[in-house]
Amino acid sequence: MRMTKTRTATLIAVAALTGLLAGCGRLLPDAAIPPPGPTASVVSGTGVIDRPIDAGTFGWLDRATASPQQCEAELRAARVTFAPTPDRVNGPTCGLTAAGVLGADYGTVARMAPSDVTMTCKLAAAVSVWRRQSVEPAAREILGSEVVQIDHMGVYACRGVRTDAGFTARASAHSRAAALDFSGVRLRDGRRITVAGDWAGDTPEARFLRRIRDEGCRVFGTVLSPDYNAVHADHLHLEAERGRLCR
Ligand SMILES: [Zn+2]
Repeated sequence: MRMTKTRTATLIAVAALTGLLAGCGRLLPDAAIPPPGPTASVVSGTGVIDRPIDAGTFGWLDRATASPQQCEAELRAARVTFAPTPDRVNGPTCGLTAAGVLGADYGTVARMAPSDVTMTCKLAAAVSVWRRQSVEPAAREILGSEVVQIDHMGVYACRGVRTDAGFTARASAHSRAAALDFSGVRLRDGRRITVAGDWAGDTPEARFLRRIRDEGCRVFGTVLSPDYNAVHADHLHLEAERGRLCR
């Protein structure tokens, strides 16, 4: 009789504890829930950033970076430093979602200047693919030197799309930190290649810039170059969102 009472009391205690734990589980914030299964873990050196560019690159990159956890796992596997930042709303069309600070890429040589730039994880992954699979090999093949620095004019700007006639009301991808304005590279042998100074003509420098623009079109959703309009005479606008405009 005494044993039965104890057992009943134990069962009640276990049931109560189970109920409490279940309740706790529902109260956990989203951030504490582990990222989904195998997609969030990528074996070092085998992820999307180490895959050569082909006709399907935009699609498979888009899928591989669909969730922030998956995107961050891809960057980690490629030894690209990316520190996520909290989502932030800066206005009706401006703010940061699934963004972070892109730091050094320890899997390769070229560094961004300015360094440590805030952008969406999708853009960080696209920039990393482009750097390793296009910019660096193209410089070796066409210019015979190593890219040590990638110069840019920034990512985040809360503004409308800029045209030759001025700013429009439509929000630019820059207002979501989803586009990088690339201005040129510096090579190990000291040469500096710029979109502003080297785009025209048929020099090796011009061929290098056109090749990384064309390959960029397979990596980014939208790429705008000096061929598009005068506003882009000194940079390539590289946008990681869906758009499929390339010129
Ligand atoms: Zn731009």
